[in-house]
Amino acid sequence: MRIPRDITDCGRCSLHTCPSQFASVTMAEAVEEVRQDIRVTLVPGTRKNSFRCNTESGFIFYKKEMRGDTLRLECINRKIGCHCRMTMRDGVFTQTGAHNHDAQFGEQHRAAAVNECLNLARAPRMGRQAPKRILEVARSVHCEARIALHPALERRIQRQKRSNQPLQTVSIDDMMESMEFHPVFKETILGDLFFNGTVRSDEDDDVPGVGLIFVSLLLL
Ligand SMILES: [Zn+2]
Repeated sequence: MRIPRDITDCGRCSLHTCPSQFASVTMAEAVEEVRQDIRVTLVPGTRKNSFRCNTESGFIFYKKEMRGDTLRLECINRKIGCHCRMTMRDGVFTQTGAHNHDAQFGEQHRAAAVNECLNLARAPRMGRQAPKRILEVARSVHCEARIALHPALERRIQRQKRSNQPLQTVSIDDMMESMEFHPVFKETILGDLFFNGTVRSDEDDDVPGVGLIFVSLLLL
């Protein structure tokens, strides 16, 4: 938007309080920058079923609401005063306003490493590893990420590991069935197969009982 020269270049008065100078400031603030066709990648958000929009230029937006056929998004830094926002209609992202902070590539990388940790924790074999090892692998995939194993991250990894585990079994039959559905239970930590079978003790002078045995073929 062009501001008329007779308002910006006030040559008629040398006072700082000239009303025409105030007029030019108010008009400039009312005009918000609009950028179209912002390139965006959708990634999982921190909360369950939420998502983030990472822009190619390093900014991050969260969904605010869906109004009609338009998705409205706000900058992740809104709480600290950034009023930059985006809309998405028919797959086209349009940004209104400017950010009041630098690009957040560091946060994009950190969040990607956290999501990698959670994916690994859900994976059958990797999920049995300790959180420290899971983070090491995630870091090797997202080497730009600067991230440490703090207690909150460790809890999230443990929660993901638990959510992927089958229900506790109470009988030998349950356990055998569980092993059929989860073949990983028949494997050693290195992925080799255990020999497994049941043992029973029903001699007169024994305490009756049934047990499962697992023997690694490497030991035979
Ligand atoms: Zn912002």
